[in-house]
Amino acid sequence: MSTEDISDVIIVGSGPAGLTAAIYTARANLNPKIIEGEPSSNSDQPGGQLMLTTEVENFPGFPDGILGPELMNKMRDQAIKFGAEFITKKVTKVELSGKIKRVWLSDAENTELKAHSVIVATGAKSLMLDIEGESRLLGYGVSTCATCDGFFFRNKLVGVVGGGDSALEEAIFLTKFATKVYIIHRRDSFRASKIMQKRAENHEKIEILWNTEVKRVNGDTNLDSVLLYNNALNKEYEFELNGLFVAIGHSPNTEIFKGQILMDENGYIVTTNGTKTNLDGVFACGDVQDHIYKQAITAAGSGCAAAIDAEKWLNSNFS
Ligand code: NAP
Repeated sequence: MSTEDISDVIIVGSGPAGLTAAIYTARANLNPKIIEGEPSSNSDQPGGQLMLTTEVENFPGFPDGILGPELMNKMRDQAIKFGAEFITKKVTKVELSGKIKRVWLSDAENTELKAHSVIVATGAKSLMLDIEGESRLLGYGVSTCATCDGFFFRNKLVGVVGGGDSALEEAIFLTKFATKVYIIHRRDSFRASKIMQKRAENHEKIEILWNTEVKRVNGDTNLDSVLLYNNALNKEYEFELNGLFVAIGHSPNTEIFKGQILMDENGYIVTTNGTKTNLDGVFACGDVQDHIYKQAITAAGSGCAAAIDAEKWLNSNFS
């Protein structure tokens, strides 16, 4: 299907969406190149956000749970088995509107790759508080996903940081498990919808700590307390907590695609008819185009869809 220098498909991103797209396109003999990112402490490292979690208990097929990094490594091995080629670099620049898609890598030579189609699976990152202890205890008491990790906090004390719909939704979800849920919000009013505010404020297991900021998270191997600051009283105090859920928003990793791929007002890629973007031959899957479900399994499902959409598109345009 391709000439020597032009790949059929380049996949940008290597979380569950990118890796599933890799498995499917490799099995379809499309010889995908996956630009998987470079090791770093953020969600744009190879493997995406699951590399920052511990146990994953809700991915079907693993009744005893599986560690996030192990799940990602298994998906990667599966893609390699079918001939996918991984490139451990970031993408620095793209030109996606032409018939031939061009992608530049973060290596010393600024290598340029060409392809007929591109699958964007760069994911999203949770915004973090950027305080002492936070990244060290991520996965060990600090979490960004109640749906993923809430179960581990049965009969424990948890805090949720934020005052938007996400924070309140997470807090209400966590009441199923935790003894008590503290919503820690930096102001004296929520920005969440009225209905969510009412639900949270009336919930017997929820207590709201207004005008309160988290300054530090403490614990050797697991979170055991946080340092809080009441900005109305100008008072700092230690507070016992077993879990801290940071729910201050997400940001899709779409910087390099701005001005080319159509995005919504929050920077998420807009997809229609499955995984199609506004650009012919460019597809998007996973959290980079999904601000609703944000689960590993839904990302994997949309990665599969993107691979099938890309294969069909290549067949009708290049065979
Ligand atoms: P959001 O609405 O932007 O709220 C973020 C919250 O985090 C705000 O309360 C903000 O405080 C706080 N915050 C931001 N940076 C902070 C920091 N550094 N330290 C402490 N607090 C910080 O984000 P979201 O809740 O993720 O919601 C995003 C969008 O999705 C919204 O449009 C929301 O309505 C929607 N959503 C809808 C649903 C639903 O309908 N079921 C569920 C989830 C989300 P301030 O208020 O002081 O700025």
